[in-house]
Amino acid sequence: SLSDRISDSFKKLRGKGVLRDSDVDQTVGEIRRALIDADVALPVVREFAQRVREQAYGAARSKSLNPAQQVVKIVNQELVEILGGETRELTFAQRGPTVFMLAGLQGAGKTTFAGKLGKWLAEDGKRVLLVASDLQRPNAVTQLQIVGERAGVDVWAPEPGNGVGDPVEVARSGLSHAIRNGYDVVLVDTAGRLGVDEELMEQARQIRDAVNPHEIMFVLDAMIGQDAVHTATAFKDGVGFTGVVLTKLDGDARGGAALSVRGVTGAPILFASTGEGIKDIERFHADRMASRILDMGDMLTLIEQAEKAFDAKESEEMTGKLLSGQFTLDDFLTQMQQIRKLGSMKKMLGMLPGAGKIREQLENFDEREIDRIEAIVKSMTPAERANVKLLDGSRRERIARGSGTSVSDVKGLVTRFEAAQKMMKSVGNGGGIPGMGNIPG
Ligand code: GDP
Ligand code: MG
Repeated sequence: SLSDRISDSFKKLRGKGVLRDSDVDQTVGEIRRALIDADVALPVVREFAQRVREQAYGAARSKSLNPAQQVVKIVNQELVEILGGETRELTFAQRGPTVFMLAGLQGAGKTTFAGKLGKWLAEDGKRVLLVASDLQRPNAVTQLQIVGERAGVDVWAPEPGNGVGDPVEVARSGLSHAIRNGYDVVLVDTAGRLGVDEELMEQARQIRDAVNPHEIMFVLDAMIGQDAVHTATAFKDGVGFTGVVLTKLDGDARGGAALSVRGVTGAPILFASTGEGIKDIERFHADRMASRILDMGDMLTLIEQAEKAFDAKESEEMTGKLLSGQFTLDDFLTQMQQIRKLGSMKKMLGMLPGAGKIREQLENFDEREIDRIEAIVKSMTPAERANVKLLDGSRRERIARGSGTSVSDVKGLVTRFEAAQKMMKSVGNGGGIPGMGNIPG
C-alpha cells in the first residue's frame, strides 16, 4: 500500500547520521513513485516532490530530530498542505434556509451522504429538509425517503404540485416549502450517471440555478483511482462546486483521490464518509488524513513534542556521544529528565507505535522513579558514573545508603541502564531520540 511504501523509504534513512541531498533525492524518488502508483495526479505529485526536496535540502541540520524524523516531518507537512491544510468552515445562509446541493457520479454515495449530513446537522439543532431531485433511477426517491427516515429528517419528494418528472421543479418547490416552513438547511440530492455526460451536467446546472446553493458538494468515491481527477475536473467545469465529499474512505482507498482532488480542483475537502452507516461521517481533517497515509501512529505528535522540548545544544552533545558510543549514566539521567519534560512516561510510550510490550512492562511505572534514578546517580562517583562495571557489592550498598534507596533499586537501575546502552548500539548511529525508539518498522 501507499503507507507501506512510504514507510519503507523512511526506513532506509534510519541509520543515517546526517541527511545528505542524495538521501533526500532517493527518498523523494521512492515516495514519488509510490504516489504515482496510488493514482495521485501527476502535477500534484510533481509539486509535492519538489516542495519536499527543497525543504529537506534546507532543513538538513535540525538539532532535535534525526534524518528520518526530519524527512517524515517534512513529508507530513506537505501531505497536509496538498490535502488542503486547515478544515474550512461550512457556509451557512445569514437568513432563511441554507442550501447544500450534492453532485457526483452514480454510486458515489450522494444519497447515503445526504442522510448522514442530514442527521449530522439535525444533531446540531438544525431543521433539515432532504430534497429528492434524483428522478433518474426508478427507486431513487424511495431510497432517499428511507434514508431520511433513518436520519430522522423530512424529505421532499416529487408529487403533483412539487414537480413530477422534473428534478429542477422538485428542487425549486422544495426550497419554497423550506422557506415557508422555517427549515434551516435544505439538502438537494441529485442524479448521477455512471460516466460524465453533458445532459447530466445541464440538469445539475439548472438545479443549481434554481436554488442558488450556499455549498455545492461534489461527492467523490475515493476508491475510483485515476478517474477521480477526470471526473472532478468535469464537474468543476460543468457545474462548479465549493467543496468535496470523499466517500468510501473506510474501504481500501489508496489515498490517491484524496491527494489529487484538492490540488487539481482547488476546492477544499469538507467531509469524509467512512461507511454505510448513518453515523459514518466526519469533517475532513487534512492532518488526520496525512497521518493515516503515513501510518505512523502518533510518531508525528512525538516529533512535534520532541522538537519543542529538546534543548538543541543538549541534544547535539547527546548525538555526538551516541555516535561515538560513549553513553554514560549521566547521559541516561539527562535522557530520563528530557523524557519527563515531554510528558508522562506512560503517555510517551502510548504514542510509540509498536511499544505495546514496553508499555506493559511499565504499566506501573511511577514518575517518581525518575527522582529515584537521579538520587542514585548523584550518589555515585564520577568514575562509577562513567563505568558501571565498577559497581561491586560494597559500592552498591554505599550508593543505596547515600541516595536513600535500596541495593535492589541500585541494581535495577544498572540493569536498565545497561539495557538502554545496548539499545543505543542497536539503534545504530542514527541517533533516534534517545530512549524513545525510532521510526517504526
Ligand atoms: P449515489 O448514487 O451517489 O446516490 O450513491 P448511494 O448513496 O446510493 O451509494 C452507492 C453505494 O455506496 C451504496 O451501496 C452505499 O451503501 C455505498 N456507500 C455510500 N457511502 C459509502 C461509504 O462511505 N462507505 C461504504 N463502504 N459504502 C458507501
Ligand atoms: Mg442517489
